[in-house]
Amino acid sequence: MTDTAKKVLLAAPRGYCAGVDRAVETVERALEKYGAPVYVRKEIVHNRYVVDTLAERGAIFVDETTEVPEGAHLVFSAHGVSPAVHSEAKELSLHTLDATCPLVTKVHNEVKRFAKAGYQILLIGHEGHEEVEGTAGEAPDVVHLVDGVEGVERLEFSDDDKLIWLSQTTLSVDETMTIVQLLKQKFPNLQDPPSDDICYATQNRQVAVKAIAPQCDLVIVVGSQNSSNSKRLVEVALQNGAAASYLVDYAHQIEPEWLEGVKTMGLTSGASVPEILVQGVLDLVAEHGFNDVETVTTASEKLVFGLPRELRPADRSKR
Ligand code: SF4
Repeated sequence: MTDTAKKVLLAAPRGYCAGVDRAVETVERALEKYGAPVYVRKEIVHNRYVVDTLAERGAIFVDETTEVPEGAHLVFSAHGVSPAVHSEAKELSLHTLDATCPLVTKVHNEVKRFAKAGYQILLIGHEGHEEVEGTAGEAPDVVHLVDGVEGVERLEFSDDDKLIWLSQTTLSVDETMTIVQLLKQKFPNLQDPPSDDICYATQNRQVAVKAIAPQCDLVIVVGSQNSSNSKRLVEVALQNGAAASYLVDYAHQIEPEWLEGVKTMGLTSGASVPEILVQGVLDLVAEHGFNDVETVTTASEKLVFGLPRELRPADRSKR
């Protein structure tokens, strides 16, 4: 095989979504405005590089609100928090900045609305994920987590119960639809949500991977192990014809043997991944003869979310 036969199919869209962009900028602007340290509850987004870079600039990441000194500035991550966490912060007189993605807030609002209307809510998502904990915390008595197809078996409701399903924003679209079909077989009166909870960015990145996967001997997904949407991209690649697929935080984690015999390599990144890390992979694989890079675009994204109110410029018209 000659090097000219080697090719990279670069999926687009990939990388940062509007919610991650906003969350990272929230911490950056907070550091500029209030000075270090600024505390952040949990990882602002699930990406090692982003967290390490912000920590170097003075962000302090904590697991719990109770670890933050009284009166300090605290940013809530893109994944959202439950009302109980908001209360804790208030009790400690913390100055909070909420970087929850508006598309996660939308699911919180749905939970509140359907709980008030007397529904039992079947929340499809991954147990222990911060987003799920925050969302379920809006109405813990009526939210029932459905984690994978196995989660369907455990559920029992009476015919009189009003049921609706909602979901985490970063799931596999196909797997979620499989779970919904199983739920509907078991509970025929189950209602659909008013709109998709799996967000546009998660869906777009999966569609782009589906487009390249059938042609790829290998698909590299740049993203962290605790990033739900990044892990789903590996699964989607494998389910759609990629011979192999791996998740890496950094280019140097690519094992040389993964590239052996590969003619066409796919490359994408999760919604919390800065483009510099994708470029690192392109630089590395170029050293192995993968110089021909073709971008495969399946959607264009223009969505931008405004910063939390406290960090917006006072009067943009004067700038
Ligand atoms: Fe928001 Fe989706 Fe990005 Fe999560 S992946 S931060 S829900 S846009």
